[in-house]
Amino acid sequence: MDIIHLLPDSVANQIAAGEVIQRPASCLKELVENSLDAGATDIKVLLYDSGRTMMQVIDNGKGMSETDARMAFERHATSKIKSADDLFALHTMGFRGEALASICAVAQVELLTCREEDEIGTRLEIHGSEVKLQEPCSCAKGTNIKVKNLFYNVPARRRFLKTDATELRNIIQEFYRIVLVNPQCRFCLTNNDELLLDLTAGNIKHRIEQVFGKSLNKQFTAGLVEIKSETDIVEIHGFVGKPEFAGKQAQQYFFVNNRYMRHPYFHKAIMTAYQGMLQPDQQPSYFIYFDVRPETIDVNIHPTKTEIKFSDEQPIWQILLATVRESLGKFNVVPSLDFDSEAGSASIIDIPQTATRGEMSGSFTQHDSGYNPFNEKNSYQPQWVSNNSNRTSSYADRKQPVQGWEKLYDNIIANAIGKEGEESGEGERDALFDVDLSQIVPFQLAGKYIVLPLPTGLFLLHQHRVHLSVMYENITAMLRQKRIPSQQLLFPEVIDMSAEECSLMSEAEEELRQSGFEFSQFSPSAYSLFGIPAIMDGHDAVAVIRRILASISDAGLSARATWQHLIALSLAADAAIPSGKPMSEAEMRSLVEQLLTLDNQKFTPDGKQMTSIIPLQDIEKIFRV
Ligand code: ADP
Ligand code: MG
Repeated sequence: MDIIHLLPDSVANQIAAGEVIQRPASCLKELVENSLDAGATDIKVLLYDSGRTMMQVIDNGKGMSETDARMAFERHATSKIKSADDLFALHTMGFRGEALASICAVAQVELLTCREEDEIGTRLEIHGSEVKLQEPCSCAKGTNIKVKNLFYNVPARRRFLKTDATELRNIIQEFYRIVLVNPQCRFCLTNNDELLLDLTAGNIKHRIEQVFGKSLNKQFTAGLVEIKSETDIVEIHGFVGKPEFAGKQAQQYFFVNNRYMRHPYFHKAIMTAYQGMLQPDQQPSYFIYFDVRPETIDVNIHPTKTEIKFSDEQPIWQILLATVRESLGKFNVVPSLDFDSEAGSASIIDIPQTATRGEMSGSFTQHDSGYNPFNEKNSYQPQWVSNNSNRTSSYADRKQPVQGWEKLYDNIIANAIGKEGEESGEGERDALFDVDLSQIVPFQLAGKYIVLPLPTGLFLLHQHRVHLSVMYENITAMLRQKRIPSQQLLFPEVIDMSAEECSLMSEAEEELRQSGFEFSQFSPSAYSLFGIPAIMDGHDAVAVIRRILASISDAGLSARATWQHLIALSLAADAAIPSGKPMSEAEMRSLVEQLLTLDNQKFTPDGKQMTSIIPLQDIEKIFRV
């Protein structure tokens, strides 16, 4: 008997869908990119339960004819390329003709679409690749697509979805990558009818301001300098952060020909440009847009991959380095960007480009890599170096607190998903300066807060969170030295693990070993643990490992760069003084001293508030009448 048969299209599509549509964020990305490809200038996205129940994209693009609407859901149906040659002159985001076919294979899709020239539009319903309904209908010009119950017919995938909060975070991240490169388009994003982003059309800096400026503080956008260079092989423009605004979690975006990309090699060029200006664990923010001839990059990549190959990678690396260096070298003489100016207005700063352009345009060759504006300006000193010595304080070795915008960024996301978070005020940060702490007697409140009665008000510390941040700093310092010493367990522990935990364990093996865990796989569903980080003395190592794996799983496999951060965070949380533990005066004083050594004295590394001040004025208000 013959046993081979062809899979029905619906099944083949479902399998293929797994490639393109992995989670609500990837589905949304495809839909929004389609709207942009259709020339939309106004795109509204409505999510329910972070896209799990429903996501709807409404655009004012060119719409589809009745036949095209039906065709659009077939596999390899695209209006964007006709032959493989077209791939080399691609100006659209999509081209594979797979997205809609994939989406309709794993969801219930409803489409309304109408072209400018048509009187009447089309309504189409497709559930699991099966057309349920197609009829003429009157609807607005453009396309309105609803994707309901994603993965309703693929329970395994549905189970794989993370919490709504995590899925929403992924969506917002994906959304940023699109909106930052399409400032000409208006975007709205809501989740469960709550408005998360409302971005009006403007230019790039206006868009950056709308996305990161308002919810943070002015510091973020004021801390950016413009970069620009034009050569035969690439045009580069965008913004990079001043070194003193660098932090642990910076905003780093590369785009090429209007497409978001990751590019570790170009990232190195940027880090090289910042050499000597950053402390070891700091990252600069950047928003860098490359324009190259389409035939010089390989776009024939997997739709969910964000790495892009350049044929002129080496020279572009050098150009990027020189461009960023030049702008950084000039930033202290260039006025800060004013993001309050009118949207779309002409650039208000004009960085003289002569040196870089003169060196590079047309005649760019490898030896130009030696160009270094800093050599020409021996007097140049990174600002954070000179600033640091200005302030006097009774704690000679404490660092200048760096503004906490990078933590605040976490909080806009946290706010969006209903977690705690708020904007920074000047008060807290400076409250402890110019105070002789030896004269202040701290006391503990409710077993979990430390209160310092200062002349300016009541300064509050969340004891667990402050200690967590201190431990986090210590742990990351050890990790920078490559390894945390480990301590052998007398009796190895066997940990039973789910399949997901097992695969995370092997994925994150290197990071876990660096952190001092020693283990080997014991069976397909168990690991044996025989060494733990020495700093964990006496703690429940198994619980900590599970917590680490859960946080890595939440962050997603693509967020590998953050794994060390997550491990440090879990270890710190475990090692920190718990809430509810009574503390002696000496212990409280020591914790306050340690707080003062932190760069960010207001937020924990995961963006939670750890200190605050109740200003004296507020207390006086209570007693005014
Ligand atoms: P691709 O974008 O790779 O061409 P898709 O499956 O995403 O493949 O879309 C198939 C086709 O459907 C597109 O080529 C386009 O012609 C049409 N289409 C999809 N979304 C829209 C939209 N929002 N407005 C107009 N046309 C659209
Ligand atoms: Mg598409």
